[in-house]
Amino acid sequence: MMHARRCLYVVTLLNCLTSLLPAQDRRGPFTHAPRSVRTRDIDQQHIRLDLRLDWDKQQVDAQAMVSLSPFKPTKEVILDAAGMKVSRVTRDSKSLKYETKPQQLIVQLDREFMPGEMVSLVIDYVVVRPKHGLHFVVPDDSEKNQPRMAWTQSEPEFAHYWFPCIDSPADRLTSEIIATAPKDYFVLSNGTLESKRLNADGTQTWHWRQAKSHVPYLFSVVAGEFDAYEQRWNEVPVVSYVPKGQLNLAARSFEKTPAMMDFFSRKIGVKYPWPKYTQICVDEYGWGGMEHTSATTLNMHTLHDDRAHLDVSSDNLVAHELIHQWYGDLLTCKDWGEIWLNESFATYFATLWNEEDFGWDEATWSRYEEAMSYMREDKRYRRAIVNYQYDSPDKVFDGHAYPKGGRVLHMLRFVLGDEMFWNAIHHYTTRNMHRTVETADFRIAIEEVTGQGLNWFFDQWLYHGGHPDFEVSWKWDDVAHMVRVSVKQTQKVDSVTPVFRMPVEIEVANEADVKLHRVELSKAEETFHFQSDRRPTRVCFDPKDWLLKSLKFEKSKEELFDQLENDANLMCRLQAAEMLAKFNEDDDVLAALNKALESDRFWAVRQEAAKSLGKFKGDKARDALIAASRSDAKSFVRREAIKSLGSFKHATTNDALRAVISTDQSYYAISEALQALAKVDVSGCEADHLAALNIVSHRQEVLKAAIDGLVKVKSAQACEEISQLLEGDISPERRVVLIGGLARLKPADAEVIAKLYEQLDNDRTSVRRKAIDAIVEVGDPGAIERLLVKRDEQEIPGTIRSIDDAVEKLRDKNKGIETLQKQLESLRQQNRKLEDRLNKLESKE
Ligand SMILES: [Zn+2]
Repeated sequence: MMHARRCLYVVTLLNCLTSLLPAQDRRGPFTHAPRSVRTRDIDQQHIRLDLRLDWDKQQVDAQAMVSLSPFKPTKEVILDAAGMKVSRVTRDSKSLKYETKPQQLIVQLDREFMPGEMVSLVIDYVVVRPKHGLHFVVPDDSEKNQPRMAWTQSEPEFAHYWFPCIDSPADRLTSEIIATAPKDYFVLSNGTLESKRLNADGTQTWHWRQAKSHVPYLFSVVAGEFDAYEQRWNEVPVVSYVPKGQLNLAARSFEKTPAMMDFFSRKIGVKYPWPKYTQICVDEYGWGGMEHTSATTLNMHTLHDDRAHLDVSSDNLVAHELIHQWYGDLLTCKDWGEIWLNESFATYFATLWNEEDFGWDEATWSRYEEAMSYMREDKRYRRAIVNYQYDSPDKVFDGHAYPKGGRVLHMLRFVLGDEMFWNAIHHYTTRNMHRTVETADFRIAIEEVTGQGLNWFFDQWLYHGGHPDFEVSWKWDDVAHMVRVSVKQTQKVDSVTPVFRMPVEIEVANEADVKLHRVELSKAEETFHFQSDRRPTRVCFDPKDWLLKSLKFEKSKEELFDQLENDANLMCRLQAAEMLAKFNEDDDVLAALNKALESDRFWAVRQEAAKSLGKFKGDKARDALIAASRSDAKSFVRREAIKSLGSFKHATTNDALRAVISTDQSYYAISEALQALAKVDVSGCEADHLAALNIVSHRQEVLKAAIDGLVKVKSAQACEEISQLLEGDISPERRVVLIGGLARLKPADAEVIAKLYEQLDNDRTSVRRKAIDAIVEVGDPGAIERLLVKRDEQEIPGTIRSIDDAVEKLRDKNKGIETLQKQLESLRQQNRKLEDRLNKLESKE
């Protein structure tokens, strides 16, 4: 699965304040006593569901046939089942005694069943307004034209809220889903469509069969009115469904799907394993995407227009969910503690598609961004990737399971080399397909096919936490013609974090040539010697960025110039551009950065140069940034240049930013320009921001920036404009951002604040999340308490997490205010004492 907030194109900044806490202070939600893989007395073989969906009542009338085989003699079957009204349980048409508990259905069998026998139970039940698992999308007052849809989302353990089962990833089974909906609706589920039948009452019944095994959390039903974007890969139909009327947006997001299927099938050496591949975009879906077997479900933000496409791509999400069809669906992690076997594979293989599609530099950059996102989480808590000490399963879907594990697979590729790595992946996949897996299965498969003993690698990267923090320096020995490179690992070594053993590449370059040395690291401090004809002009550590690490490597200005200008590796040039920022009064450095900004062949280096130039002062730096804001082909570079211009107060800056707002096609560049303008032209920017309130953009980026600016300049006119916009016909998402803006402009207006809190009851996850963001921005004193009340009503783990993050931010905010109040009080006291002393002195005189 991919959380919406974790998608690469939804870069969410983590709370800065918590990231300032030292690592190790918080061990995160991994303090539970170690769990075991789930114990089962009975094995699920097949589940057939017959569902009748009713949107008016938001209810499903259902019959489940659950076929089971006992592991030991058994007279009682206990299934996971929650929130369902069971009316009857039968076996061979004979009624059985049963009992329901909040999370269980307990059935007494009519006789004892022995291992090897099959028990088939038929369970009639109703679920009304399901709390989890199944969601009805219906129109409401805030959006009367909302088309009706229904979808399911069961990972990690929400399947038992819509059908009785053993709701665990440990138990594989086959399935059939038969669903009845209005006749104009399309119903999608796992596997092959067996039949479709029109009923006399104006409904239609769809019968889907999943003939090869999967697990309950991968069962899916989606129903509604959709348009189909049809493709094929060899004999496999590939169909992407979008809500009716939006077919024009489909190709931009989905056209590469068959090419991805081809690439992954070739690299893994195991063909795409299911009879069809479908992707379907649904409303009110609070996740990024979910890899239901052969029937992926996706968030509506996946679809976007041409202008958003300048900054946003769905390729990563599409590749991520597709690769799960192998890692997650064909092979499933046996326990949530092993979730990296699903998520790290999906994360890493998506970067491999990027490497195939756009080349090594693009993939290196995306892997670097992933490392940074893990590093932010590591400042909050540190854990082993394989971890059975989780409080609840949803907690394991974090930066350790996704980006960190992805980088661990990248390091495995470095350790083994490409050929052995792909042999290992092929062997692991063929040996374990249609099975549940744990980390040892992966290690054993690698050892079998490559002969490499890898306990050391698995132990440090998967069963321990953290990463090496390197401090590197080099010296030139002119007599011995020798470069001495000293490498220290400075991370705190404890029971969680070891000293790391790893190979690493060290690049030694001079005017004549570039040599790449591979050495083995294993100690906290070590020195490596390399023979060289002449003094190196630069030495780079891990130039291709294979290792997950932090790096301190002090260098002279001259070495950084050489590195920025001449190194073939993106990360070396990028680091040089970053490190040169500290020489921000040096004209030569300014010239070098300007040259990189104008001409580096990779955009991320130009972006870094724009960032560093923002730390300079004066006309030259400003002109360079203005030029880049106008002319760079890549919107990310223009955005960084625009952001940097926010520290250059000058009439020409104002003009340049206004030019961006009126002519740039990138919504995100316009948003950045509005924010910069509010810094450099505080007194003159109100009209620009008022006008920008009318721009409709991807994820409302422009609107949010306009509101930020208007709040900053305390615009009196903004309230009226926003109130007028709220009267019009606007999307729920736009509405909540506008209400949030109004609340920030009028924090004392009880009516406006009440309207903002009302949005927390909206059916749409995106609306609730935006309301939560706005509540944090307003930061009124009762916010924490009111959010905590709402927390208990939420269904989606991501939304619960948004509330937890919001509460934490508000507490930090309050702490800041408390500290200021304390400081003020102490100043007052000092002042009083001084006044007393002065009075006494004066009276003595
Ligand atoms: Zn995933």
